[in-house]
Amino acid sequence: MEPNMTTTTQNVPVYQNFIHGQYMPNQTGDSFAVKNPATDEVIYRVEVADEAIQTAAIQSAKQGFAIWSAMTPIERSRILLKAVSLLRERNDELAQIEVLDTGKPWQEAQCVDVQTGADVIEYFAGLAPAQVGQQQMVGNDFYYTRKEPLGICAGIGAWNYPLQIACWKSGPALAAGNVLLFKPSEETPLGALKLAEIFIEAGVPAGVFNVVQGAAEVGQWLTGHPDIEKVSFTGEVGTGKKVMSSAASTLKDVTMELGGKSPLIVFDDADISDAISAAMLGNFYTQGEICTNCTRVYVHRNVYEQFISELKTRTEQNIIAGNPMNPEVNLGALISKPHQQLVMDYINKGITEGARLLTGGKALSPDSAPNGYFVAPTIFVDCSDEMTIVKEEIFGPVMSVLVFDDEQEVIERANNTHLGLAAGVFTKDIQRAHRVIHQIQAGICWINAYGNSPAEMPVGGYKHSGIGRENGIETLDQYTQTKSVYVGMNKIDSPF
Ligand code: NAD
Repeated sequence: MEPNMTTTTQNVPVYQNFIHGQYMPNQTGDSFAVKNPATDEVIYRVEVADEAIQTAAIQSAKQGFAIWSAMTPIERSRILLKAVSLLRERNDELAQIEVLDTGKPWQEAQCVDVQTGADVIEYFAGLAPAQVGQQQMVGNDFYYTRKEPLGICAGIGAWNYPLQIACWKSGPALAAGNVLLFKPSEETPLGALKLAEIFIEAGVPAGVFNVVQGAAEVGQWLTGHPDIEKVSFTGEVGTGKKVMSSAASTLKDVTMELGGKSPLIVFDDADISDAISAAMLGNFYTQGEICTNCTRVYVHRNVYEQFISELKTRTEQNIIAGNPMNPEVNLGALISKPHQQLVMDYINKGITEGARLLTGGKALSPDSAPNGYFVAPTIFVDCSDEMTIVKEEIFGPVMSVLVFDDEQEVIERANNTHLGLAAGVFTKDIQRAHRVIHQIQAGICWINAYGNSPAEMPVGGYKHSGIGRENGIETLDQYTQTKSVYVGMNKIDSPF
């Protein structure tokens, strides 16, 4: 399926919105540019979902819902599994889109982004036919419950894992019989269009997965629309609050996958090499643009010097920044120039507030990608809990290392934040590992591991990091509503 490939004066393709099984031109002609973060070049433009597109999207979603929700779960499952096969077949083509849109390394996108997206659709396709209601006798009467879809749902995505987020939202939504209007981030809008093409090719009826393009104003239209029953949002805490208050005006159900400032706690009996691997993965993978990152690394005083010395060596020796399409490169470019500046501002604040810079601390201009928005992997040590870099989400390759002495002390310090997305503990003492994790206020926790997020495991935040969950069995429930049906078996006993 060919998108509208009209080109602009910049000689780049222009992608349209994807409505009712095909690309649809808007009426205003408004479009926005998308840049490759590794080159600073405009690579394509995308038409904004104007009023004509918005009206068509809702009409189409209603038609799509009538067909899709009437199918049996096993029929829906069969179609979704075809989409999974197509995603896997096109892994490399889709991974390349993600690299060009996000700036992340090919070596990651090629084995993570598409596959973890496909896994989740496959998981929910498998679960859907197994969803059952309840039945209970009440005297001679009885009631039963039906798990019914919600209707039209909206998904709003962030830019760090664009295709994966589109899959994580569409998988459970569609498996449960809903339709989804998806708005990707305006920084990374292409992957969702490719997913829409794949769904159609697999046999998903037109209107079941529409893609509307644009920034905040298109998001606001979705969150306020009276015909939309639920919004699943991934993005910043501040935006999440706006989305939730807008959704409240029409009492929409919400799922909120928001930011974090997660702790990693390394006890003195830990496998230090593994703990360093986890700290590096949880700060430098995807150039630090991962919501669950362990940006506060608490290390026990007995192993602190050893930890930071090996961490410095490995960071300086093993990280290669450059053209993200080069398979050797393992540190890509940040999403945009303003974001690069924001990360640099945080680094400068760290220095001003007295953190000791162990390594990094500067923007990079690698030979193979001199115009990209790179920031060197940066480690601050001897940090204190009050520093801005320790308190606020930076969303870049910036790690803060802190020293601790005592288990209870570190638990309290780890919990001393309004965020609660993730946490990790490294220790060989299994009782301590569970005891500590059980006291940590976070929704996604790892023991002697960090960052793994299989489709089977529910993920989501405590406190301001989120509401609801993605993945895992419970997410399917969050895309259904329960209908109770009472069945009278006796003659009605009435005073009238
Ligand atoms: P963002 O909040 O700026 O934007 C997210 C999406 O919201 C975009 O599609 C944007 O166009 C849209 N949007 C902006 N204003 C809106 C409004 N008023 N109403 C409706 N939609 C609106 O976030 P971002 O910069 O794209 O992503 C980075 C953030 O996402 C980080 O904070 C990160 O932690 C978080 N994140 C969380 C998870 C998770 O699963 N918890 C996953 C990935 C990213």
